[in-house]
Amino acid sequence: MERTLSIIKPDAVERNLIGNIIKRFEDAGIKIVAMKLLKLSKAQAEAFYAVHKERPFYGELTDYMSSGPCVPMILEGEGVILKNREIMGATDPKEAAAGTIRADLAIDKEKNSVHGSDAPETAAQEIAFFFTEYELAG
Ligand code: UDP
Ligand code: MG
Repeated sequence: MERTLSIIKPDAVERNLIGNIIKRFEDAGIKIVAMKLLKLSKAQAEAFYAVHKERPFYGELTDYMSSGPCVPMILEGEGVILKNREIMGATDPKEAAAGTIRADLAIDKEKNSVHGSDAPETAAQEIAFFFTEYELAG
């Protein structure tokens, strides 16, 4: 069984969209096996997105990600890494397929409501960033 890291980002938490987003995962048969609500510091947001540190949007992205609470979750299911990316939609909501989280809810290419790991290696790293083994429910 595969696992991935999802984050409901600050723009979605602020607009009371936690339930809306979680319902989409549950309706798709995906299990939430760990979840918390927290506010990242600027330094933590920089560490989480270190892979993007040379990109022009890195400063703004890490300001935004540390601007308010977010909800990291571990999702579990068969092929859940790819399945989650499909449910999320493309990075830019203008390019996201109809019915995806980002098409329906995102504000713009930066404030795009959700994060999802993109491969098994990043999923393992990103899960370990937010959760310890004993925080896993099942
Ligand atoms: N991002 C941005 N401007 C861009 C590209 C990305 O602000 O031109 C932000 C956006 O919040 C995105 C995050 O940086 O979700 C990480 O970018 P990535 O390319 O990994 O997109 P994702 O995997 O989230 O679809
Ligand atoms: Mg990415």
